[in-house]
Amino acid sequence: MLKSLNSFDLKFKKVLIRVDFNVPLQDGKVVDDFRIRAALPTIQWCLKNGASVILMSHLGRPKGQVVPELSLMPVGEVLAELLEMPVKFSDDCVSEDAIDVTLGLKSGEIHLLENLRFHPEETKNDMEFSALLAKHGQIYINDAFGTAHRAHASNVGVASFFTLKGIGFLVEKELRYLQTVIRKPKRPLVLILGGAKIGSKLGLINKFIEEADTIIIGGGMVFTFLKAKGWQVGGSLVDPAMIDTAKKILAQARMHNVNLLFPTDVVIADAIEATDQPEIVPMDKIPSSKMGLDIGPESVKKFASIIQEAGTVVWNGPMGVFEVPGFDVGSRGIAEALAQAKKLGTITIVGGGDTASAVKKFGLMESMSHVSTGGGASLELLSGNSLPAISILEK
Ligand code: AMP
Repeated sequence: MLKSLNSFDLKFKKVLIRVDFNVPLQDGKVVDDFRIRAALPTIQWCLKNGASVILMSHLGRPKGQVVPELSLMPVGEVLAELLEMPVKFSDDCVSEDAIDVTLGLKSGEIHLLENLRFHPEETKNDMEFSALLAKHGQIYINDAFGTAHRAHASNVGVASFFTLKGIGFLVEKELRYLQTVIRKPKRPLVLILGGAKIGSKLGLINKFIEEADTIIIGGGMVFTFLKAKGWQVGGSLVDPAMIDTAKKILAQARMHNVNLLFPTDVVIADAIEATDQPEIVPMDKIPSSKMGLDIGPESVKKFASIIQEAGTVVWNGPMGVFEVPGFDVGSRGIAEALAQAKKLGTITIVGGGDTASAVKKFGLMESMSHVSTGGGASLELLSGNSLPAISILEK
């Protein structure tokens, strides 16, 4: 059985928490603190209940080397500001000095360890390294949803050194929406799929083709499906290796009676360059010289009406190249439809990665039932797979 953080007696305990502080940095500054804020409820609960807290995380891909640009020091500064209290920092997560700092912590104090991936042992799930990490705590809590699909020393190996172990509030919320709600969804269940790559979402598609009432397809992957149906798509993104797979998906959708919907109009351009005058054509009229870069207004309207009627909506993958002005309107329209539907009682779940970035860009994070903090991990869970870093805590 998985244990929730609130089932532990934390008083005077040292709680070692694996958090996901893998945030974007620019010129040594944190440019998006979404993941730091997401870890605050767990940290604050521990402090309020008399524990001292030791935080460990990775940042970027230093590949087992010390890369000063990928230090967690700037994250510590943001954390100290958000919590309005000092945060102790150790520049090597397993040095004797670091362990001494942990041993000297008093109730209500925080110790942040330097980037775990400065050590090659972290991604190898090395047991000796796990044992050193385990010296930092008496209770182990995993609240790093973003890496839960990986088996690393700080989220799998380390757990075997603890009898007192469980999940933090962020992981608990992720599991509630991406696992519990999906197992028994309020119907109709609608999946909105977008983004560029079909290949990385096959598990999700296969699962939802059996479970969903409607699947809406947008984004770049539309064109591989349309190509599979024999349509002309001009210079739009097509993944030739996925055409046969797309044909199989279309056949399966028919077999399972899933309402599979494609956009009927599309924003086209010569190239991916910002525009304030987007050109819109029906989906079957894309000129050979142009590419489709967003869904059009008619499609947004049609999809929005389906979303309004839904009991549960899962959205994974943007509807267009939302990063570029002129091709973000479709994704914004879908995000707004989700926000509206939620007000009327629809459960709205947004997968992590690009879709979360899009929702953030539109200022609608708080208007969703749940925006996942993990890209790969959310895909795995929604596909019905278990996560190694969570399974290990059930033992
Ligand atoms: P994925 O990682 O497969 O979810 O893909 C996300 C990316 O798909 C985003 O960076 C979008 O810019 C891109 N994308 C969405 N729609 C299109 C499109 N019509 N053509 C090319 N790229 C797209």
